[in-house]
Amino acid sequence: MTLTNKASKLFLAHAAIFVLIALPQFAARAQRSSTDAPKQDTHGIVVANMDASVKPGDNFYQYANGGWMKRTEIPPDRGRVGVFSRLADLSNQRTVGLIEEAAKANAPAGSNARRIAGLYNSYMDEAAIEAKGLAPLRPQLDAIAAIHDKRELARALGESLRADVDALNNTHFHTPNLFGLWVAPGFNDSEHYTAYLLQGGLQLPDREYYLGDSARMRDIRTKYQSHILTMLKLAGFSDTDARAEHIVELEHAIAEKHISLAENEDVHKANNAWKQSDFATKAPGLDWTEYFRAAGLSKQTSFIVWQPTAFTGESALVASTALDTWKDWLTFHLIDAYAGVLPKAFNDERFGFFGKVLSGTPEQRPRWQRGVDLVNGLLGDAVGQIYAQRYFPPEAKAEAQAMVSNIISAFRKRIDALTWMDPKTKAEAQAKLTTLYVGIGYPETWRDYSAYEVKADDIFGNMWRGSLFDYHREVARLGLPVDRKEWSMTPQTVNAVNLPLQNALNFPAAILQPPFFDPQAPTAANYGAIGSVIGHEISHTFDTEGSAFDSKGRVRNWWTTADLAHFDASTAKLAAQYDTYKPFPDLSVNGKQTLAENIADVAGISAAYDGYRASLAGKTAPTQDGYSGDQQFFIAFGQNWGSKSREAALRQQVMTDPHSPAQFRADTVRNIDSWYSAFEVQPDEKLYLAPSERVQIW
Ligand SMILES: [Zn+2]
Repeated sequence: MTLTNKASKLFLAHAAIFVLIALPQFAARAQRSSTDAPKQDTHGIVVANMDASVKPGDNFYQYANGGWMKRTEIPPDRGRVGVFSRLADLSNQRTVGLIEEAAKANAPAGSNARRIAGLYNSYMDEAAIEAKGLAPLRPQLDAIAAIHDKRELARALGESLRADVDALNNTHFHTPNLFGLWVAPGFNDSEHYTAYLLQGGLQLPDREYYLGDSARMRDIRTKYQSHILTMLKLAGFSDTDARAEHIVELEHAIAEKHISLAENEDVHKANNAWKQSDFATKAPGLDWTEYFRAAGLSKQTSFIVWQPTAFTGESALVASTALDTWKDWLTFHLIDAYAGVLPKAFNDERFGFFGKVLSGTPEQRPRWQRGVDLVNGLLGDAVGQIYAQRYFPPEAKAEAQAMVSNIISAFRKRIDALTWMDPKTKAEAQAKLTTLYVGIGYPETWRDYSAYEVKADDIFGNMWRGSLFDYHREVARLGLPVDRKEWSMTPQTVNAVNLPLQNALNFPAAILQPPFFDPQAPTAANYGAIGSVIGHEISHTFDTEGSAFDSKGRVRNWWTTADLAHFDASTAKLAAQYDTYKPFPDLSVNGKQTLAENIADVAGISAAYDGYRASLAGKTAPTQDGYSGDQQFFIAFGQNWGSKSREAALRQQVMTDPHSPAQFRADTVRNIDSWYSAFEVQPDEKLYLAPSERVQIW
C-alpha cells in the first residue's frame, strides 16, 4: 500500500510496458525545465504557495496551495503536476545523467552499466525502429496466426502470463493479459513465497470503462473501438471493422466477470486456495493443464485465486468465444503493448487514445523521459544502486531513521492510550510494531541482472527478454523462504510503501529530500511533510487491509469481537465522510475504494503530530513568517498535496485509484482536533466537523 498512485512493478512486465510508453499519468514525470515547480528557495513551509485570502477552515487545500495553483499551468505533455512530479523531474534528470555516464564509460560486456546504456540507447534510436517496421513482432504475430485450436490458444495464453500485478504492496490490479501472477508471502504460509493469480484481460483501465452508462464512457468506448481498428490497419490486417467490434465485445464480456476495485481490496474475499487440479472443475473452459505448462507453472500445485468468480467467468469465455476472436484479441494486445517501440505511426495512434482521450494530455512527453522510465522499469535496481550512492548521504539516512523511530514511538503511545481497545488487542498491535522492518533510502542487497541479456539495436527484444527475466525470477522464488528485507520500490522512486505480508516499510531516497524532508527546515515543517508520509506508511499496518495480518504477516484475526466492531464502525464513518466528496457533479469519491488510504492519512497525520509535539520537549516551536509551529505543521502537510490535474486524468484517478484525489487528502486535517485550535476554525466554516463527527481511529 503506497503513499500515492502506481509504482515500479508496472514497468516490469510485458503487458504493462505500454503503460510507460503511453500513459504519462502513471509514469514518473520529468521535464528539463520545471515551470510547474512549487517555489522552494526557502526552508520550511512555502508562504508564496499559499492563498491567505481563503479561510483555512473553508478550504484548507486552497489555503495551503492557492498561490501555487494560480501561477501553475499543466504542461501540455502531462495529465497532472504537483510536488510529486517536481521531485520525479529531479529524480529523472539525475537518472538520465547516470545513464549518460554509463554510456560514456564503455563498461565491459555483461556489466550493469553496459546493460543500462544498451537499453536506453536502443530505445532512443528512432531511425532504427522506423527502419525495422513491424519486423521485430513478426515471430510473435506468426505464432498467434498459427493457433489452430483451443488447446493451442491455452498455450499462447499461458505463455503471455507475466508477474505484472501486485495486490497489496503497489496495489496494481490491472493486466491486459488474461490473468496476472503475483509472487508474495502466502496468506496461509507467510514464511514462503506463494503464487497469487488475479483477473485480467482488459485493455481499458477498469471494468467501469466497459460497463458504465455515462455519455463519457460511451464516447470512450466508441473511440477505443476505432483505436483498435486503426492499430490493426497499421499492422496490415484486413476486415478490421469486424475484428475491432469482436474484440470490444469480448472485453465487454470479460469486464462483466470482473469484480470492482473496492471488492478487490477486501483480503478476506481474496484468500481462496485452489489446487492446480481444482481449476478444471471450478473454472471449466480453459485447458488449464496446457495453460500452466506454457506458463512454466506445471509443478506449482497450489495457488491463491484472488477473484474466483472472474476466473470461472473468463475461463468459460475461452470456451464459448470464437477462436478467431481470441486470436485477434491476442494480436491487438501484443501490438498495443509494444506500440511505443514500433514506428511512429503506431506510437502516435496509441498515445492519441490512451494519452489524449483517456487522460486529456495533449502532447506526449519527450522520448528521453520515457527512456528513463523504461530503464527504471527493467533495470531499476541497477540504476538505484548508483543513484543511492550518489544522492543519499549517510547523514540523511541517519536523520530519517531518527524521525521514523520518533513516529513509531508516538504510534505506540497512541495505541496504549486508546480507551476502546482491549489490552489483548493492544499487545498484538504493539507486536506488529516490534517486528516491523523499516527500509530507508535503499535496500540492503541488490538484484542480480546477470541473466538479463541486453543487445544493442534490439529494443523490442530487450523489452521482451526483460519482462521474461522478471517473470522467471518471480516463478523461481515460489516455495522459497521469504526475504522480509526485500524492497518493492527503487531508491529513485518518489513514493513510499507498506508491504503488509512482509510487515515492512520502504522509504526510497528520492522522497527523502526537500520539500518533503529538509534537514535545514524547521522541525514543524519536516514533521508535517515527511513525518505525515512516514506516519501514513506505518498506519497502513493497521488499516482495513493491514489489520488483517498479524506480526508475522499471517492472515489471522487478532482482534476481540468488540474491538473489531468498534474499528468497523469507525471506518464506516470515514468511508461515509469521503463518499460526500464530489470532484465533479456526476462523480463522487468512492469511500470504500479509498478507505485504506484514507485511514492511513488520518492516522498518519495524528502520529506525526504527536511525534512533532514530543520533539519539542515542552518548548515552544519557533515561528516562521508569523506562523506558529502547529500552523506550520498543518500547512506543510497540506502542501504535500499541491497538484493540478486535467479533468480526464482526475476522472480516471477517481475510478481506478485506491488513493483519494489530492484536494481531499489535504482536507484530512478536519478530523484532527489540534487543527481546529491551530487555525481557530469556527462551526460556520465549510470544513468544520463537530467533535463527534471527527473520525479518529488510531
Ligand atoms: Zn498509502
